[in-house]
Amino acid sequence: MIPKQDLSQLQSLVSSERFSTGESELNLHARDESYHDEHRPDVVIYPASAQEISKILAFANMKKIPVTAWGAGTSMEGNPIPLHGGIVLDFSKMNQILEIRNKDLQIVVQPGVIHTELNQRLAKYGLFFPPDPGAPATIGGMVANNAAGIQAVKYGATKHYVLKLQVVLASGEIINVGTNAMRTSSGYDLVHLFVGSEGTLGIFTEITLKLVGIPREVSAALASFSTLEQASETVVQLLQAGLSPAALELMDTESIHALNAFKEVKLAEQPTLMLEFRGNGAEVKEDVELARELCESNGCTGFTVGLGKEQRDKLWEARHHLLYAAAALNPGKRIIVTDVAVPISKFPELVTFAKAKLTELEVPGAIVGHAGDGNFHVGNFYDPTKPEEKSRAQAVNDAIVKRALEMGGTATGKHGVGIGKTKFMPAEHGASLDLMKQIKRLIDPNGIMNPGKKLGS
Ligand SMILES: Cc1cc2nc3c(=O)[nH]c(=O)nc-3n(C[C@H](O)[C@H](O)[C@H](O)COP(=O)(O)OP(=O)(O)OC[C@H]3O[C@@H](n4cnc5c(N)ncnc54)[C@H](O)[C@@H]3O)c2cc1C
Repeated sequence: MIPKQDLSQLQSLVSSERFSTGESELNLHARDESYHDEHRPDVVIYPASAQEISKILAFANMKKIPVTAWGAGTSMEGNPIPLHGGIVLDFSKMNQILEIRNKDLQIVVQPGVIHTELNQRLAKYGLFFPPDPGAPATIGGMVANNAAGIQAVKYGATKHYVLKLQVVLASGEIINVGTNAMRTSSGYDLVHLFVGSEGTLGIFTEITLKLVGIPREVSAALASFSTLEQASETVVQLLQAGLSPAALELMDTESIHALNAFKEVKLAEQPTLMLEFRGNGAEVKEDVELARELCESNGCTGFTVGLGKEQRDKLWEARHHLLYAAAALNPGKRIIVTDVAVPISKFPELVTFAKAKLTELEVPGAIVGHAGDGNFHVGNFYDPTKPEEKSRAQAVNDAIVKRALEMGGTATGKHGVGIGKTKFMPAEHGASLDLMKQIKRLIDPNGIMNPGKKLGS
């Protein structure tokens, strides 16, 4: 709890309409899209500039008040939940595109810009920013979580697009890291220390991103299989054949059933791969044909190609809303979302393991994967009023993460560690976790930046 006199000193640092201790504001910033419990902040501040944030952080640091940044609150692991109360900095008012340098394929933005708005503005230059989490996330939140989306298999994650960051440190000092050059070997790579730091090392106030050109040709295809094993084995073969799809998504029968029920996409209720190829010429058609051959030689029972723009957009929109479609089939339940990633050769084995665990522990769930990256999600549903159901859902999640780590994989491919994955950090990182904790202490000695996240306590 922030003492009253500290609250009024904080209030004097920002204009009153951007400072709120109102019940509804505190409640709105108490939980994200995850299953984690609510924790309310003491105050929500909507900062307007780096200088203002600098003053807030310097004061918070002196008084040891926790500070948690808030983008759009769409995280899946409790990343922006103010676990220990204190100040939430909501970036919805720092949402300006500051500069478009289209000839350099670069853009400079404030952290509160929503990624879809960015791409709408960039379309007239024939450019885009590829990472797309499907949720209305901010660029600040995407950089902090190192978010990725369905096109990551071709275009990579957010970290591949961050050139430069302006960061306010816990002390209030404002620093710039990175360069406008597309390539550098200069100094230590601080940009990539801050990317993915989930608000635990500093607050981003200006972000320079690299962009790419929008390709002319797009072709999407759907491949259905009799078994999940066939579908996941095919993923490995498509990549080993040298294909580079822009998207390669795996959905199990339960996922397809949820999409049919709530998005009326009329798909065959079988394990399915959704593929998309992008390019500028004939190679797109050739790639689709090779994909068809490989799918068919693996027992694919239906391969639909040449989806028109309308159908393609509808399918991808449905895919983005799968979480809500699956939730609608499980009314009143909460969901623990697994986010493991493994080396691609291990992908089929882990998918099979995950399916068997759901069955063994009788947890209702669905499997969906950004398969091309060896990354997939298992949605484990439970009734929040029944602790025994929650522990079974948690047991499925934990078993899958443990197995992924044994396979040389990671607990989180893109959602970040947040609250829920901290317990896996010692097993994943071993002695290097101590080095990470030392770096955290060096940059944030009083531990005020989003405490309790990323590395645990
Ligand atoms: C339906 C759905 C689908 C999703 N699909 C995907 C997906 O495909 N891929 C994927 O990667 N994610 C996905 N997500 C998760 C989520 O959208 C991403 O993690 C996203 O990056 C979160 O952005 P946000 O703006 O909501 O940030 P928040 O959730 O508000 O915050 C995320 C983290 O960033 C920190 N932060 C925010 N702003 C700043 C700043 N200015 N400076 C420093 N730290 C900051 C916060 O403290 C927090 O730790 C999905 C979520 C939903 C609900």
